[in-house]
Amino acid sequence: MFETLLLNFLVLLFPVVIYIIFFENRPYTYCRKIIVLLAVMSMSLCMIMPIHLDSGFIFDLRYIPFIIVSLYGGHKYVFPLYVVLNILRFYVGGDGSIHSLLFSTVALLLIPLYHHRFMGLNSRNRILSACALSFLTMGCYLIAVSLIIKQMNQEFWLIATSAITTNIGAMLIIMILVERIITNFNNRERIIQSERLNVVSELAASVSHEIRNPLTVTNGFLQLLNKSDSLTDREKRFIELSLQELTRAEKIVSDYLSFAKPQSENMVYSNMSDELEYTKNIIMPYASIHDVEVEFTFNNSLSTYYDRNQMQQCLINLYKNGIEAMKESGGGTLSIEILESKRNIVIRICDTGVGMTKEELSRVGKPYYSTKEEGTGLGMLMVYSTINKLKGSIKVHSEKGEGTTFQLTIPAS
Ligand code: ADP
Ligand code: MG
Repeated sequence: MFETLLLNFLVLLFPVVIYIIFFENRPYTYCRKIIVLLAVMSMSLCMIMPIHLDSGFIFDLRYIPFIIVSLYGGHKYVFPLYVVLNILRFYVGGDGSIHSLLFSTVALLLIPLYHHRFMGLNSRNRILSACALSFLTMGCYLIAVSLIIKQMNQEFWLIATSAITTNIGAMLIIMILVERIITNFNNRERIIQSERLNVVSELAASVSHEIRNPLTVTNGFLQLLNKSDSLTDREKRFIELSLQELTRAEKIVSDYLSFAKPQSENMVYSNMSDELEYTKNIIMPYASIHDVEVEFTFNNSLSTYYDRNQMQQCLINLYKNGIEAMKESGGGTLSIEILESKRNIVIRICDTGVGMTKEELSRVGKPYYSTKEEGTGLGMLMVYSTINKLKGSIKVHSEKGEGTTFQLTIPAS
């Protein structure tokens, strides 16, 4: 019996190992189909090699892949497992096929309902709730079995205990591994992102300063030249155009400069109310041109140290993106909230614009990623860099065609 137990465990480990070796560098949202396929294989193997107890009773660990896929993927992804489970069960035959069909249907309908809540939990609670669910499922299963066989003797309890402990034990170990993979992946992404920001900010600081001076000088001389009387209209037009382009170049350079290290003369200790007030005045005209209604909510008493200019720039970048996302569809509502939640300052910026797909979402904040004709793809990078410097975090929720919410969480000091 111990050998089959180990074998079953190995079968459950198999998807985890394959995933680590071949797919770990891709976000798990991209290879869901592969994960489901691996889970189907592992579940089938579990069913083919059940654990035989000395008393002749058999049970297996088929519900472990089933529960894990239900929790991480929801109804859509667990459905193939459900189909394969029942086909195999009928193929193996014996009594109880119908009961198994009924039981798995109930599991298919109920367990994935918890998917959204589950994904919102932290790592530890996800592990615990998966184990609890595995306990519940096995419990219900055994109750169903006991109702059918109608004999609740000591032997039954012995079987029940071993089935439940094996299931929970295996679930615990597999879940710890799965969560570890996810944590490692996220950590790696964070390190790469902060490395990216470092490169951009160092480059920005050194190059932008050097470029800014010649730009200012050229700008000055062109303006002088523009005042000359001997110029034809055509020549004046050329100078106008050159000046316009210079202004654009200066804007890009100052965008880059905002990545640089926080400047000590700009540092303040405050609760962001001034920044909200200031950015409000700047963004209102832009919003009303595009028929966007803006709602402000301020309810925060916590303070922290930050670079005033960078914080303003960061907020403006987010507002602008929100408004730009709504301008195609002819307006909408931009809601801006600054709140406090447990020792954290929370800034929430919510628009009702075009939204993003998962694919697009994963690219936001990478240098030069832009879907706009005139876009630089630096706005969000700047936002990430600023919040990173404040040891904060950013959560984005976006639904294609519905809108986008950016939530910045900054620890108070
Ligand atoms: P830019 O605005 O210059 O394009 P950003 O870094 O500010 O660069 O934004 C990068 C991309 O992220 C945008 O081009 C857009 O596709 C997407 N994006 C950012 N914010 C939003 C939003 N609120 N709604 C929809 N898409 C957005
Ligand atoms: Mg932008």
